[in-house]
Amino acid sequence: MSAENKALDAPVSSLKGVGEALTQKLSRLRIDSVADLLFHLPLRYQDRTRITPIGTLRAGHEAVVEGEVVAAEVVSGRRRSLLVRLRDGSGLLSLRFFHFSPAQQQQFQPGSRVRGFGEARAGATGLEIYHPEYRLLKADAPPVEDHLTPIYPATEGLHQTRLRALIEQALARLDDAPEALPDWITPDLRSRFRLPELHRCLHALHQPPPEIDPEQLASGHHPATRRLALEELLAHRLSLQTVRLRIQEDGAPALASGRGLQARFLTQLPFSLTAAQRRVLDEIGADLAREVPMLRLVQGDVGSGKTVVAAMSALAAISGGCQAAMMAPTEILAEQHYRAFKAWFTPLGIDVAWLAGKLKGKARLDTKAAIQDGRAQMVVGTHALFQDDVHFQRLGLAVVDEQHRFGVHQRLALREKGEAGGLTPHQLVMTATPIPRTLAMSAYADLDVSVIDELPPGRTPVKTVAMPGERRPEVVERIRHACAEGRQAYWVCTLIEESEALECQAAEATRDELVEALPELAVGLVHGRMKPAEKAAVMEAFKAGELDLLVATTVIEVGVDVPNASLMIIENPERLGLSQLHQLRGRVGRGATQSFCVLLYHPPLSAHSKERLAVMRETTDGFRIAEKDLELRGPGEVLGTRQTGLAQMKIADLERDADLLDRIAPLAEALMASHPEASQPLIRRWLGEEAGRYGQV
Ligand code: ADP
Ligand code: MG
Repeated sequence: MSAENKALDAPVSSLKGVGEALTQKLSRLRIDSVADLLFHLPLRYQDRTRITPIGTLRAGHEAVVEGEVVAAEVVSGRRRSLLVRLRDGSGLLSLRFFHFSPAQQQQFQPGSRVRGFGEARAGATGLEIYHPEYRLLKADAPPVEDHLTPIYPATEGLHQTRLRALIEQALARLDDAPEALPDWITPDLRSRFRLPELHRCLHALHQPPPEIDPEQLASGHHPATRRLALEELLAHRLSLQTVRLRIQEDGAPALASGRGLQARFLTQLPFSLTAAQRRVLDEIGADLAREVPMLRLVQGDVGSGKTVVAAMSALAAISGGCQAAMMAPTEILAEQHYRAFKAWFTPLGIDVAWLAGKLKGKARLDTKAAIQDGRAQMVVGTHALFQDDVHFQRLGLAVVDEQHRFGVHQRLALREKGEAGGLTPHQLVMTATPIPRTLAMSAYADLDVSVIDELPPGRTPVKTVAMPGERRPEVVERIRHACAEGRQAYWVCTLIEESEALECQAAEATRDELVEALPELAVGLVHGRMKPAEKAAVMEAFKAGELDLLVATTVIEVGVDVPNASLMIIENPERLGLSQLHQLRGRVGRGATQSFCVLLYHPPLSAHSKERLAVMRETTDGFRIAEKDLELRGPGEVLGTRQTGLAQMKIADLERDADLLDRIAPLAEALMASHPEASQPLIRRWLGEEAGRYGQV
């Protein structure tokens, strides 16, 4: 187990001068042990290692200056201030104090020498420093600092000088007992991956020598920062891998006998599978046949046909005498899947059940009973499926649809669902968010990845146009025209001020307006505040062609499938992320006719918004859109990293350190091959005790 010995594992209270109150303040910064102090890295630095000639000072720069007082006077401008004029051989500078005491004023006698530190700015008298830190110099001036001054993330009541002193103590302990903080990236790995040694990195970052490259340090590209970022990313990967190992320690039902049922299902379908679907199904089939739980992510662009892949996988489980479950992120989507599975599976003699939070009373009890005694062979629902009071008789496969935000912890929790049978279910996660491979490997190191990289034949790419709101009447005519030709349309109202209630109101108002403008059309409305049964009825009517136009909020974002709909209007698209727009747009272009998407924006657009809408006009390739989205919004937003844990990183930054990502997998592999015992301490060092615990094998 952990070898991080006492000296550094010890609580901060073991340091000189640290009592109860300070311990608490430190814990607000997530600093509990002495080692935590070492990993509390500066946000930035001040250079007090040299004296800058006044003549070379630039506005906006912090510097130490030294000079002779020429004059000191109280001036009354907009605010009264004490102005001290300072001269060295190279130029003149003013120190300005808005708050000052008479004693202070007395100090600055002409001819006395002053050393000051602060940020120069352009002021009324030329370059000025407001409220510098300063001291009057006696005959011999004290030396300047011998390393850059770190500025740490601080907290109320805990200031820089205090933090600095504590970290100095921690560094001294490290020097006394270097073995107490092992460098788990051992010399062989360091030379192979060209990484500096841990202790040197910590010293360099807490007390950078004056000759260090300040730009590199500030931008986070210094080798020391990069080494620590790499170690942190490595720890994340190791923790995901450990979760995977833990799940896979359990047995899973080997499901090899699905072919008969699958063949009958396929003959029912009005189409044949694409090559990509077949390839992914082969990959899944190979996993399911093993007695180890599958942990697989299927990535496939909007409309690539993931639902059929889920259904085929479920049939393998059901043929093997197990139950299968499919969880969707929204009720609308769960309902749609339920209807699809019911239509597909009932002719095969398979019972399909439905469970969502809204299902209440006797119906809920009945469904739960059917899940528990195994009558329900296929269960579709929302996350209600995985709550504590739901017990499966023998769950063989759990499919999670459109939910890349599904965290590692939930995956662990799924183990328990299978416990009754003593087996852990196979897990299949499906997402339409294509993310670059290296990023996927970091975010989903616990999952194998399959990609459906082909759309079913006969789809015509959606044509996208952007129009300002004032061209609304034109857009309305366009709807009239499309519907007269038997096509259907969506009108999507986007979120206003993060309020679902307001969003629904806006959708209602838009519906009323469109009913008035288009009296000959049947207009429906669906939003998040409607009862599930109401929503389902509206969706059903739209699907059956009884409604021409569906006004909706972004609840229809994921998965809704009505091939006859060929026109989509998105109001205020500038409010949405690119991936979300792509998902929405994916609701059209599902049939053979040419589909259109109108982005009805609210001018004026920022440059950023213009760029985003241009991307939507230019491409329908989900992968390119995702890359652009990453570039514009950053990986945190796109991945929903909050739950994958990648958002809480201390040092690494997925954007800045993107080029490190492809070194993580080989490094993890090399480490596990040569020093597997390093894995747990590394996880604990970077992710904390808790992760260390759930990672224990
Ligand atoms: P997504 O991957 O976005 O979840 P869906 O599973 O909803 O996509 O499939 C989109 C549409 O494509 C559905 O109408 C589905 O029946 C249809 N589909 C799926 N696979 C094929 C195929 N191989 N050929 C033709 N149509 C297909
Ligand atoms: Mg889908």
